[in-house]
Amino acid sequence: MRPIPTMRDVRRVLLLAGTTEATRLAHVLVRVHGVDVLSSLAGVTNAPTPRAGRTRVGGFGGAEGLAQHLRDHPVDGLIDATHPFAAVMPFNAAAAAAATATPSCRLLRPRWMPTPADRWIDVPDLQAAAAALSSLGAKRVLLTVGRQSTWAFADHDAWFLVRAIEAPEVAPADHQLLLERGPFTVTSERALLRDHRIDAVVTKNSGGAATKAKLVAARELEVPVVMVARPAPPEVTIVDRVDHAVAWLDGALGS
Ligand code: NAP
Repeated sequence: MRPIPTMRDVRRVLLLAGTTEATRLAHVLVRVHGVDVLSSLAGVTNAPTPRAGRTRVGGFGGAEGLAQHLRDHPVDGLIDATHPFAAVMPFNAAAAAAATATPSCRLLRPRWMPTPADRWIDVPDLQAAAAALSSLGAKRVLLTVGRQSTWAFADHDAWFLVRAIEAPEVAPADHQLLLERGPFTVTSERALLRDHRIDAVVTKNSGGAATKAKLVAARELEVPVVMVARPAPPEVTIVDRVDHAVAWLDGALGS
């Protein structure tokens, strides 16, 4: 594998995007460091956030497709800043980087950790989350798992307040849709839980500040939170902050 490039050497970066951190990293690399960044989006959101640098949309065609892209368009660094719940792309990125000897790392924000005052029910996946709601006897649920994951609750008979950035294709039978993009405040989240008499919250352990307020509000109101664990990541270099990704590119975190 080629050595990790120093910032002086970094001209082109392929950034696998889809997170707030990816947008921020593109901004810093392009505007501050003058790097040529190509941000890649899966195309699941119809109105993605505007970002600095160039953008492409759509899958590459698996790990081999991504490797071919890297051969056709070589970069100094590949940064996988996909969502902590993206289960396929991180493995494709790792395989394609290895196949093309492209220095790569994953930008993965830290997971949320419970405090002693939290009432979290930790579950391994979405199906287990639905089962946990039944065990809790939840009747009015705030569902914040993203529009691609609401299918797991389609047959559940509770009432759901489904919050997502865009409308899901499959939703629980009895639900109200709330189309909103964070960040949210503790004040507004407390009001949301109270006004809708929410008795359980379901969320993925995405981490990050933008959507953490619901956990604080749930703690204050003693509402249980069904917390879906992250999928296992591939064994790659992981950085957990945007400035650490920049430092990695700059060689400071390189091995
Ligand atoms: P995934 O399961 O890891 O990826 C599925 C397929 O989508 C990949 O095999 C790839 O297709 C394509 N893809 C994923 N990310 C891509 C990117 N940045 N650029 C180009 N193609 C990409 O991911 P997912 O869970 O479907 O999520 C899709 C996107 O939404 C990701 O970018 C992720 O960051 C974002 N997102 C996901 C969640 C979530 O909860 N899963 C939440 C918020 C945002 P090919 O194999 O054809 O290359």
